[in-house]
Order: sequence, then C-alpha cells, then structure tokens
Amino acid sequence: MKRYVIIGGVAGGATAAARLRRLDEDAEITIIERGAYPSFAGCGLPYYVSSVIGERDRLLVMTPEKFRKNYAIDVWTETEAIAVDTAAKTVRLREKDGEESSLPYDALVLSPGGRPLRPRIPGIESSRIHELRTVPDADTLRSLAQQGRRAVIIGGGFIGVETAENLKQAGCAVTLLEAADHILAPFDPDMVPYLERELVQSGIDLLLGDGAASFSDETDALTITLQSGRTLTADFAVLAIGIVPDTAFLEGSGIARNERGYIQVDAHMQTSAASVYAVGDAVETRDYATGAPATLALAGPANRQARVAADNIAGLGTTYDGISYTSILKVCSLTAAATGKNERQLAREGLDYGKDYACVLLHPFSHVNYYPGAQQMALKLLFRKDGRLLGAQAIGRDGIKARIDAIATALRLGGTTADLSSLELAYAPPFGAPKDPVNLAGCIAENLRAGLVSFTRVRDLDAARASGARLLDVREPAELAADAIEGVTNIPLGSLRERYGELDKATPWIVVCRVGQRAYNAARFLRSRGYHVSVLMGGMLSYRAERGKATPPARA
Ligand code: FAD
Repeated sequence: MKRYVIIGGVAGGATAAARLRRLDEDAEITIIERGAYPSFAGCGLPYYVSSVIGERDRLLVMTPEKFRKNYAIDVWTETEAIAVDTAAKTVRLREKDGEESSLPYDALVLSPGGRPLRPRIPGIESSRIHELRTVPDADTLRSLAQQGRRAVIIGGGFIGVETAENLKQAGCAVTLLEAADHILAPFDPDMVPYLERELVQSGIDLLLGDGAASFSDETDALTITLQSGRTLTADFAVLAIGIVPDTAFLEGSGIARNERGYIQVDAHMQTSAASVYAVGDAVETRDYATGAPATLALAGPANRQARVAADNIAGLGTTYDGISYTSILKVCSLTAAATGKNERQLAREGLDYGKDYACVLLHPFSHVNYYPGAQQMALKLLFRKDGRLLGAQAIGRDGIKARIDAIATALRLGGTTADLSSLELAYAPPFGAPKDPVNLAGCIAENLRAGLVSFTRVRDLDAARASGARLLDVREPAELAADAIEGVTNIPLGSLRERYGELDKATPWIVVCRVGQRAYNAARFLRSRGYHVSVLMGGMLSYRAERGKATPPARA
C-alpha cells in the first residue's frame, strides 16, 4: 500500500488528494493543513466579507469528516509541515500544541500556496493592518465591515479591488491605494480607465501612484503616511500587494526553488526531488506561449496542475503545458476579463507595437441592439503581424466571460485572427449577434492585416496631429454638440459623398465616430478617392475613456 502525503489542503492540495483517491483506492492519503479549515473557498472570501455570501458554512467546501467519509482521506488540520527529508522520504510535522512527529511518504505533493507580502515598512506590525487569505481573516474583516469602519486597502490587484468593492458594499468608507499609475496589472492603460472610473463612481476613493511609507497606531485610529507625504486616517487597513510562496519550510530539503522561493517543477509537476511534486501558487511552471519560467496565483491553474501531479504519481504520465494568464473579476457593476499577454508583457518579451504585433479595440454590443438589454463592451485583441493571437482583454456588463473564453480557447490552440473571424459561435437575439463580438474582432484584425484600414491609437493622436494630421468627425452634428474633440472637422457620413471635396487632399485625415464603425466606412470611401486616412481606434468611446470628458467642437 502506497502512502501519499499532501502539504496544504486547499485548492491544489484538496484536488490532488481527491484525484489520487480516484486513481488508487488502496493508498493511504494524508493531507497536512496548517489552518483550521481544509478546502475552503478562498476565492469566495471577499464576498463573505460583504455578506453577499451569507453563511460561513458555504465557504467550507469540504470538512475533514467529509474527506474521511467520502474519500477515505485523513486530514490533519492545525498541523504544520516544518521540514522535508527527501533522502529518508519523511515530512517533519508540528502540531498546534508544539508536539513534533515524522510522517513517511512514497509520494509527496506540495501545495502550500502563497502568503500575503508584508514589506518592511515602519509600523507594519500594527494590529489594525489585516490580510485576506484565510477564513478567520474574512471573519475579522466581516466584523469590521459590519461596524461601517473606515478602511484603506493597500494594493490595486485582484484581491485589493475585490476587497475594496466588498467593504464598500458593506458600508465602509474605502480608500484604495495603488503605488503604480494604474490598478489591475493584466489590463492595459487603454482599458483600465473603465474600471478605475467604476470604482470611483461606486464611492471608492482611488489613490494612484502613491504608496504607504509608514503606519502609526494611534489610540483610536491608524495613520498611514504615504510616499508623497500625504496622510490617511483609517480604522483599519488591508494589505493586498501580492504574495510570496509559503515555502520557507523547504529550506535544506534540496528541493529546487527559484530566487524568489517558488518551487521549480517540470511538465509532470515533479520537483527536483524524486517522488516530490508541487502545484499551485507556490510553483514556477512555464509560460504557455514562450516556454519561459512563469508563476501565476489563480485557482484554475492550481486545479489543473494538481490533477497532473496526481496522474503522474499514479503512473498516467500526463503533462501541464503552461500558463496562458486567463483571468476574470467583477468590479462593481462591470466584468473585466483577460487572456494571454497584455502590451506591458509583450514589451518585456521584446515585441514592439507596429513592428511585431498589432491590436484592435472595439466596442460591440453583448447582443443585437434590437433585443432589450444589450450592453456595450470594450474588447481589445493583440496579435502578431502574421495573425497569431497574443492576448485579449474585455470589459463590460454582459457577455464578457463568453468572449474571453472563446478567445482563450483559440489562443491556447495556436489560433489566428482569421480563426476568430470564422468561428461558428452560438447566436440568438438575447445572447449575441450573427457576427459575434469575437468574430467582429477577428474581422477588424483581418482588415488591418489586409491593409484595408489603418488605425491611429488615442495615445498617438497628439503626435499625429502635431505632425500635420487633422481629425474628421463623421457623426451627426447633434452628437458632436454633446461631445467632441477640439478642432475636428465635421462632415456626417451621410453627406460625405457629396461634400468630400471640402477636405484637403494633401492632409492626412484621422476619421472619428462614436465607436469606429462609421469612421471605417468613411475611411474606405475617402481612400477610394485618393485620400490618406486612418481611423481613430475605438472612436469617441476610447477617447473619452483615456482622456476624460471632451470639449464641444470648434467650427470646421
Ligand atoms: P492555497 O489554496 O492558498 O492553499 C495552501 C494551503 O497550504 C493553505 O491553507 C495553508 O494554510 C497551507 N500551508 C502552507 N504551508 C503549509 C505548511 N508548511 N504545512 C501545512 N500547511 C501549509 N483565484 C482565482 O482563480 N479566481 C478568484 O476569483 C480568486 N479569488 C481569490 C480571492 C482571495 C481573497 C484569495 C486569497 C485568493 C483568490 N484566488 C483566486 C487565488 C486562489 O485562491 C489561489 O490561486 C489558490 O487557492 C491556490 O491554491 P494553492 O493550493 O496553491 O494554495
């Protein structure tokens, strides 16, 4: 009979244990969990804080009793693995009362996850500074939330944003502090303003480009001094600036870790030590596209890696083929999702916009406009010059997950923009359009690749105008009266065929409309008449998102 030991009993650990049982009925399987709860719903914690998830029990997906009864798996809670001896094949354990023992294994799975990063900032040890990783952490924040306290969330990543939203929803006054110049790193600067605005409109005080420099615990409050010198006063703070792999207990085990402490694994999720596997937030695996070492703290990869580790222990020999960075989150009434690389990651890989890759940004509706409830989204697609997909981001109120999942699937299978334009996707009026947003993104990208259209990005607009380009707005005058870019020439699309002679032929024209569709039609016509034209990518919607409110137009 084999003895399998699993360290860490939540996402990766619990999955590996259950899969191992299904593959080997006779093995002795033991989960070692430092906390009081195995297999809790970590991803649900922010929603428990706000009471959106009402009962605490709903977070406790599996109990030790259920593990024993349904899977014949032993769970030792409040027991910590403090060392691994890979030569003797034993794990050294310490129980809550300090008692130590050794547990032998034939195969070992490490799934210790990551603990919140606590930088050495003066005053960081204050009892008013919390984290959100465990069920007891969530109990504490829920109780503070119910008292409607003032909270400062430090870090604008996924957990920081979800915590800010849920504390606000529970009645706290919330400030979200982010040291970078924008929140949510997976989203590019031309996408993330929608999310930042949503947080502000939901009543969250958003401070960008400033970080906590020190904390000082007053009698009845916490003072946070920022790097800018500004001070914030709060009843409590939540630290959410990232995680570090919880792997210090592997010191001296000989199990290879990278310089940041992540456990290095091969495609079978095996570590450098025989019979030792590792999965989840604490491992360094591979980037799906480039094969470069990569880490990602998300539950989906942890689950899939756990299955691969268990398969290999049982001799099935499956492989994990890497991370493709697919993620989604709720930001108040918006959904934001991404897959593949963003432009910052592409730049890090040495890819240049225009030379190596291109992008399109569009604003399609979640379903046909004539059916009630259609919601406009922002959808951005990044692709190589040969059409191979690199990444996508989408933000909106409806249908976001379906679109990113379709693109994530195509991307994972090595798909191209042509594949997206021809994908056969489900359609009926309440759900989509005969030309789905995913098809549309593929078609526009194919038009760009074929040279049928060229785009000017909002970020490049000022430079283009400074070098002589002029803006032609092809919307109706009433639309411009409400909102237009200063200095545009206005000829509505419907009059363009009669009036295009008013436009100077020597001038490069950048055509703009609300989202880019009328501008594309106008640009095709003007090109046929010998004009040098491009389309403002994403139209006024993108311009407004990136630049804020525009001013009414001057006369043409
Ligand atoms: P964990 O699930 O963290 O489990 C590790 C366990 O190991 C812990 O319980 C720890 O106590 C135990 N442990 C560590 N060291 C030892 C030791 N030496 N001895 C014994 N036990 C030990 N991901 C998503 O994909 N979508 C989401 O919406 C999402 N939301 C999240 C919200 C929050 C608030 C948090 C904290 C995380 C969220 N995540 C989300 C991330 C997701 O929860 C993790 O990626 C996933 O849980 C990682 O699984 P894991 O098994 O590697 O680690």
